[in-house]
Amino acid sequence: MCPNTRNGANDGSPIQVLLIEDNPQHACLVEAMLAPNGRDSAFALKCERRLRESLEHLAKGNTDLILLDLTLPDSNGLDTFLKLQSEVPEIPIVVLTGHDDEEMALEAVRQGAQDYLVKGQVDGKVLSHVMRYAIERKRAEEQLRQSEQRLQKHNKVLVELAKSRNLATGSLNLALREITKAAAQTLDVERVVVWLYDQDHKSLRCANLYEKSADAHSEGRRLEVTKYPNYFQALEQGRFIAVDDIQTDERTKEFVESEASENGVRALLDAPIRLGGQTVGIIGHRHVDGPRAWTSEEQNFAASMADLVSLAMEASERKRAEERLSRLAYYDSLTGLPNRTLFMDRLNRAMMTARQKQLLLAVLFLGLDHFKRINDTLGHSGGDDLLKAVGDRLTSALRYTTDTVSRIGGDLFVVLLSGILKTENAIKVTERITHAFKKPFLVGSNEFFLSFSIGISFYPTDGRDATTLLKNADTSMFRAKQQGRNNYQLYSPSMNATALERLVLENSLRHAIERDEFRIHYQPIVHLASGAITAVEALLRWEHPNLGLIAPAEFIPLAEETGLIVPIGEWVLDTACVQNKAWQSAGYEPIKVSVNLSARQFQQPGLVETVQNALQKARLDPKYLELELTESLIMQNAETTVEILRQLSDMGVTLSIDDFGTGYSSLNYLKRFPIHRLKIDRSFVHDLVTDPDDAAIVKAIISMAHSLKLDVVAESVETQEQLEFLRQNGCDKMQGFIFSRPVPSEVLTQLLSRK
Ligand code: C2E
Ligand code: MG
Ligand code: MG
Repeated sequence: MCPNTRNGANDGSPIQVLLIEDNPQHACLVEAMLAPNGRDSAFALKCERRLRESLEHLAKGNTDLILLDLTLPDSNGLDTFLKLQSEVPEIPIVVLTGHDDEEMALEAVRQGAQDYLVKGQVDGKVLSHVMRYAIERKRAEEQLRQSEQRLQKHNKVLVELAKSRNLATGSLNLALREITKAAAQTLDVERVVVWLYDQDHKSLRCANLYEKSADAHSEGRRLEVTKYPNYFQALEQGRFIAVDDIQTDERTKEFVESEASENGVRALLDAPIRLGGQTVGIIGHRHVDGPRAWTSEEQNFAASMADLVSLAMEASERKRAEERLSRLAYYDSLTGLPNRTLFMDRLNRAMMTARQKQLLLAVLFLGLDHFKRINDTLGHSGGDDLLKAVGDRLTSALRYTTDTVSRIGGDLFVVLLSGILKTENAIKVTERITHAFKKPFLVGSNEFFLSFSIGISFYPTDGRDATTLLKNADTSMFRAKQQGRNNYQLYSPSMNATALERLVLENSLRHAIERDEFRIHYQPIVHLASGAITAVEALLRWEHPNLGLIAPAEFIPLAEETGLIVPIGEWVLDTACVQNKAWQSAGYEPIKVSVNLSARQFQQPGLVETVQNALQKARLDPKYLELELTESLIMQNAETTVEILRQLSDMGVTLSIDDFGTGYSSLNYLKRFPIHRLKIDRSFVHDLVTDPDDAAIVKAIISMAHSLKLDVVAESVETQEQLEFLRQNGCDKMQGFIFSRPVPSEVLTQLLSRK
């Protein structure tokens, strides 16, 4: 503040008046008016004749008012006033003027003088009133000016903060640091703190505390609402809490005992932070060094600070929501990997760069082999865990951060290798992936071995847009599956024909039942010792109008994938039962008919009923029906499977394990199931005579099965040697080309013996 300002004289001491007047008579007159009868006056008068001395006196301070004659020896007219005003703008000036100078005095008032008096027209009373009023008015003006100045300063700070990047970009911590520091500096307080309510609204956490003397930020402290009930009640009610002295204010008496007084806080100015119609926190301004009267601008400033905090919170919440949305839109929620959208986006960008830099790009399309089977075994959450682990392993198998791994569907992953120099590099990566998947995955206490069928396409040779590249990699992946899985295939244009074929096949498979295109061929199962046909296996054929007879290996996987196997399987069951009954009715020795079942049929509810219906419609005794199951089918959902098998077995239907030896081969496990027969897989039978290992396995299977009282059938017996080996080792039955290929029912009839 300016040293001249005495803040008026309302403390009872006389008002200090400087009279600047070169005419001694006039000076005496004024003196007399202000101190009538020479008594102690409310005014203390000092007289100067010239401007220079006057300024010297003013420089000492201690002047409350100037009475000014404009015509002086060293200065004249309005100029005298202006000079004085510029030297001591805070001191009120009342101009003394003669009759003829009134116009000039008016001009001085227009320029900022408090008033003017015409000499000779004033008495002491008027003079004293005019002076007191001038002082009051000047003080009010001064306050207004200062408050405007503060307001301007506040506004400037607010505008700066509102424009801050931190507020806009939603980084709440940075925004709060900026706000607390600016508030402490602007209001000149020691501490500014932002408290935010916890979820339960019962306590608050210090989101940021700025201490001016240390120029340091901190955070994390807690505050319990219940400790300060009066304060928090007041907070919820008003726009702010302005407390000049916390020791005497009702709202903050509860503070005095607490940490607030320990910190030396005497005055506080706190504003609630409101968001979405709710108080979510407080911004508190803490003054130490004694009480402090908060001006209304300061209070408004505090309220604006609170608004800024809520703006910052809103921005950060918006940003978080945006981030959540973008995660949803661009990432796979299960594995956290980029999804198809993000993958395509990255692929498009990578193609642009590759084009500019004349580099190659590879898209690897990876399909997990047999994942459906594992998923069925593990159940959904187990399968999900496994997919996550697969995603992780895949990511860590890749070396560069520029490579993108993405999950684009159930068990399908894609990898983008950007900026590679030659195709061999992509193949190396593929081999690295294959290698990484040699180690088993652990789910619970179970180990699983997983492999990929991988299709690879290259930019620019195999496609110049993202969709084509992905489609061609997919086609190659399908080819890899066809090649027996766990391998990779590079894209070649002829593959598209295969993909098209598959599509056509799928469509025509849908109509095959209604168009009556399915046939069943029957293959005899023969008692080794007697040579009698004890059963026939029903094997499905598809008589395609254009493609001819299609073997089950060609369309059963597709039928399983599409679910068409369910109605198809039902048809096989019906037809086989009816056929078997027809043989019996025609007077042939009764035999079993053996029907293959797919896992998918087991997952469908009502399998037991379907079997029952088939038997009833055909009027076939259940003991003449056998169902062939695979090991993996039995291991899936063991609990429900065992229940279904029991019901079927109770019904009188017999059950056999097909292709035994290719899966888990656990005979002990099989004890739990009502199984009657094992069929040794053709792969063992095939090399029986040449491969001692296979011979040993077959022997072991036969003796183990017998110890479990299971009947053993050998599949695919083609040679006399194989037959001899099996006979010698006690195999019960056999099935194979050596006796008969699968044949239409009319042909088979000729093989059956009459009763
Ligand atoms: P599978 O149940 O193991 O059937 C035996 C397969 O071995 C048949 O092949 C049969 O033709 C073939 N086979 C029999 N004897 C010999 C032989 O001496 N040498 C050779 N090399 N092969 C022999 P097919 O008919 O091609 O059937 C293949 C598979 O398709 C079947 O294997 C079975 O798993 C499945 N399948 C056939 N019909 C059905 C059906 O109606 N439903 C279901 N779900 N699957 C079926
Ligand atoms: Mg079979
Ligand atoms: Mg078999």
